[in-house]
Amino acid sequence: MQKHQLYRNQVLRQGLFTLLVILLAGPISCAQKPYEGKVLLAVFAHPDDESTVSPILAKYAREGAKVHLVVVTDGRYGTNDFHDHKAGDELVVTRREEMKCAAALLGVELIHLNFHDQLRAGEGYDGHVPHAREMVKQLNDIVERIKPNAIITWGPDGGSTHMDHRLVGASVTQVYLSKDWQKPMSLYFYGTPVENIDDAEGKTLRGQASKFLRTKVSYTDEDLEMAAKSYRCHYSQIDPMLTEADFIERKSRKGKFVYLRKFEAPKSDSDSVFE
Ligand SMILES: [Zn+2]
Repeated sequence: MQKHQLYRNQVLRQGLFTLLVILLAGPISCAQKPYEGKVLLAVFAHPDDESTVSPILAKYAREGAKVHLVVVTDGRYGTNDFHDHKAGDELVVTRREEMKCAAALLGVELIHLNFHDQLRAGEGYDGHVPHAREMVKQLNDIVERIKPNAIITWGPDGGSTHMDHRLVGASVTQVYLSKDWQKPMSLYFYGTPVENIDDAEGKTLRGQASKFLRTKVSYTDEDLEMAAKSYRCHYSQIDPMLTEADFIERKSRKGKFVYLRKFEAPKSDSDSVFE
């Protein structure tokens, strides 16, 4: 075989090989992520509350969903034993920056509503109620604008029974119930299985029977590591000695899942409370 013919065959073989690689790799590189086109809305009360579900926020963002995180209050009362921050405007600025840092790491779009921490409860009915009503209206506007496929918020326990947590969860539920949303939309409440809580008081205050927590969302080590990094952004709220490894251990001690209770509407009408 002549030299130039050998060369031509070699070029032809290389060309065929390249074509094969393109054909094989093409569908992979063009493949959609599993949740591309889906919209998730998470609504919590304070900067750092999102850490309860942060591994799955990271997961859904990584898997292509558009994830929006609404943080309702400014967290101005977030003083603690770890730092000597004073409650007030300066802490608001600090926590706003911390929240931006955490949201960026999780890959979520942050909507910080900056309502007064504790929703002006200390000012009594006239201070609190207009503030709480305004919150419901703003949450309604957000749901109308974003049109999520799924919403996650605090359940009736509020995790720690914090009044802001429970009021935010109740307000999101009211928005959800207030109309027959045209787009199919699911509402989920964060919950803790009662068997994952050791103390009797905790079981009563925030535990939930497994039969109600039927949505059990798993996540990867990568998602958990990202959640740990984002939690460290909330420096003003955490023990400086708490490492990312501590967060990971604490979070995954009972398995790498976030438990949610899906809101279920009645399937049919009834004329009695006794079935
Ligand atoms: Zn909170």
